[in-house]
Amino acid sequence: MRLNDTHDPARRSWVESANSPDSDFPIQNLPFGIFRHGAVPPRGGVAIGDKIVDLAACLAAELFTGDAAEAARACVAPTLNPLMSLPPRFASSLRARLSELLRDDGQERDIVEKQADKLLVAMADCTMEMPSAVGSLTDFLCSIHHSRRMANGQLPDAFHYLPISHHARATSLRVGGTPVIRPNGQYKAPDGTIKFGPEPSLDFELEMAICVGRGNKLGEPIPLTETPEHIFGYCLLNDWSARGIQAWESRPLGPVLGKSFMTSLAPWVVTSEALEPFRTAAQEREKGAPALFPHLLDAADQESGNLDVAMTTSLVTPRMREEKAAPAVIIRSNLRDMYWTFPQMVAHHTSNGCNLQTGDLLGSGTVSGAADDARACLAELTVRGTQPVKLPNGETRGWLQDGDEVILRARAERPGHVAIGFGECRGRVEPAIQWPAR
Ligand code: MN
Repeated sequence: MRLNDTHDPARRSWVESANSPDSDFPIQNLPFGIFRHGAVPPRGGVAIGDKIVDLAACLAAELFTGDAAEAARACVAPTLNPLMSLPPRFASSLRARLSELLRDDGQERDIVEKQADKLLVAMADCTMEMPSAVGSLTDFLCSIHHSRRMANGQLPDAFHYLPISHHARATSLRVGGTPVIRPNGQYKAPDGTIKFGPEPSLDFELEMAICVGRGNKLGEPIPLTETPEHIFGYCLLNDWSARGIQAWESRPLGPVLGKSFMTSLAPWVVTSEALEPFRTAAQEREKGAPALFPHLLDAADQESGNLDVAMTTSLVTPRMREEKAAPAVIIRSNLRDMYWTFPQMVAHHTSNGCNLQTGDLLGSGTVSGAADDARACLAELTVRGTQPVKLPNGETRGWLQDGDEVILRARAERPGHVAIGFGECRGRVEPAIQWPAR
């Protein structure tokens, strides 16, 4: 895919809030999500500034024709799956048309702006739903820094050969904003005894996920060169992790209950097309790393299969909420530090014939970099709780406490282009339930 008029950095919108330099949703972004407004059933919309374009209303106003109309009709649904399942040119046509309708110097500006009350809804008046129905969630381990720090400097034998992953739980995925309840489970206490109770070492993982567009047939791998056709877009993911449960249960089969209590997905899906200006080279392989197998090696992927996206994690404690303090940024990392590209993850995942389905999520794994403040989960940042992170008001955290809220954000920025953001993926920790019930 190449850059087109929708990426033009000079383009501005008559929706004034979209032109603010710190807006996540300028006219160059146009991410998709599922919103609920009033009594109407949830349906697809597109973010612009602090508004949501109601695609059903635009259809009723006969603003779309051809592929753009077909894409918009697919969005009049409680999930984005019908849109995601279409070939990418449909979402692309809709994006081009919306960019034209929303630009401040567009030929149809007057016609559209007159109907703005019907076509746009204020984000503040809406609640966001899960963007897609997710059949399968696969979580990868693509940060070499995270992998080393979590295993005392050792890398798993396969790390340089393939993007390591595990099948995660899709049924407990929830849209950002849904509270996460501290899980109960078995863990090893400091004195070595095994206990069952509220997880003492509750953590998060700052991740990016891709939403699979069109899937592949069982038995038919997706060649690396064709993976862009299957990646609909990108979405922030918080892979909440119960470190005590995870450590006790994971050998030899890997984490299950330590992860499956909940995973949070941000409401806005940023399309692959919107991210085109932020492509960058794949990470250089470490000295002495084995050559890539042919199905994981492609010149274009090596040259531009990676993405330059700055990512942060902020924390709000109950005391900070009381003091009306701003969220404290505790982590700053970048997606480009991943050792494997998302196209390589897709090519690897399907190389055995496994069939991906529309809406499936592939998580990057914790997006940690080399720097100390790029350690993208508490297990890394606080060295498993032993070196608590200090917050501006003097509070410290080794692990998450009840009432703490975690806010993930991401933003693609590059000189010569308008920065685009991913919105937020929020979640507040609620106390564990009493279990077994008395
Ligand atoms: Mn993870």
